[in-house]
Amino acid sequence: PISELQGRVKLENVTFGYESDRPALKGINLDVEAGLSVALVGHTGSGKSTIVNLICRFYDTVEGRVLIDGQDVRDVTIDSLRSQIGIVLQDTFIFSGTIRENIRYGRPDATDAEIEAAARAVRAHDFIVDLPSGYDTEVEERGNALSVGQRQLLSFARALLADPRILVLDEATASIDTETELRIQEALSTLLQGRTSFIVAHRLSTIRHADCIVVLDHGEIMEMGNHDEL
Ligand code: ATP
Ligand code: MG
Repeated sequence: PISELQGRVKLENVTFGYESDRPALKGINLDVEAGLSVALVGHTGSGKSTIVNLICRFYDTVEGRVLIDGQDVRDVTIDSLRSQIGIVLQDTFIFSGTIRENIRYGRPDATDAEIEAAARAVRAHDFIVDLPSGYDTEVEERGNALSVGQRQLLSFARALLADPRILVLDEATASIDTETELRIQEALSTLLQGRTSFIVAHRLSTIRHADCIVVLDHGEIMEMGNHDEL
């Protein structure tokens, strides 16, 4: 198991294909210091989601190595790995139950006060208390009654409460209004603080936030640097 994780993530000469003939990633080298945030950008199919899939060890047939704190992710148990990585996917996972239960998902022992604190920190509290039964409002599976922005903020509250050392986030592509975007950006900077994070970024505002931007093209890294350098 991984204990006392720092959160340094390294991809060492990583080549990977879903189908054997066509690699989705080719010779990727990436070394991310603990606590830094990386924005992954590039055209559709360039390999952004594949990078985060491999960090989460959704696939094992990797050439090269994916290392967390110097340890190959294949040498640790899936459970201990996943307990250290917070995952916020594009299609935010919301199940039928109350808002409270949805935020508590990764931390079953969390108190109501902790849940509210997390929701406040990511600016989700205001919309939650405006719902018919506040934190006890029942949402349907897939969260259909909530807007895209609200779902995203809810998933941020969930991730913040779980407090992982490493965060992986596939940003929602759906269009949201300027005010919600601003709110999400503020929430995001709170969420990123002190963790190593990989964000598949679709918004320029998110990209500006990142310590490092990685530009992918056809499974290869084309450019790497911060917003001012690129
Ligand atoms: P997008 O912006 O559209 O999400 P992406 O940069 O995340 O694109 P990936 O999903 O990493 O792209 O895909 C990289 C390559 O791998 C593409 O050629 C894609 O068709 C292929 N691919 C992705 N997922 C699978 C899968 N589950 N099975 C087979 N091929 C896949
Ligand atoms: Mg993708």
